[in-house]
Amino acid sequence: MCNANRDDQATADARIPLAPDASWRLPVGWMPVVNALHRELVALVGDYEINHGVWQKAGRLRYLAEFPVVSARARRLAHEAQERTASLCEVCGGPGMRAVASPRCAKHPMRGPGAVPEVIAARPALRTADDVARGGLSDPKPPQRATTSAERNA
Ligand SMILES: [Zn+2]
Repeated sequence: MCNANRDDQATADARIPLAPDASWRLPVGWMPVVNALHRELVALVGDYEINHGVWQKAGRLRYLAEFPVVSARARRLAHEAQERTASLCEVCGGPGMRAVASPRCAKHPMRGPGAVPEVIAARPALRTADDVARGGLSDPKPPQRATTSAERNA
């Protein structure tokens, strides 16, 4: 059984530039790595696109993107993120055992009693043609704060 509280989980950066037909099966525990990688890539190459997708393969992150310029540094950043995820639990992002199938920590076993199924992060917002023309998604709007009945009656 998974004790992770879904409400506490960070969400994927909504500005991650996922092509409409790109795959997205990111284990939720790796989301901080992917959000950081995205920020580093934007700082390095500007607007880019994830043309193939983001998923786990052979116990590591796959982040298959196309960059506006040929950049060995961008490829290296993606490779470093891939290597980092090889020893991070897919469920909680904590230190995990390297595994060909799925790196997991002791609290989130893949098999046996107490096995935790994989948890896939929500897909970032899809980009429209207008978004691409404008050079990416605009900043997401902050969520509106709920008001209490006392505030409404004031
Ligand atoms: Zn874990």
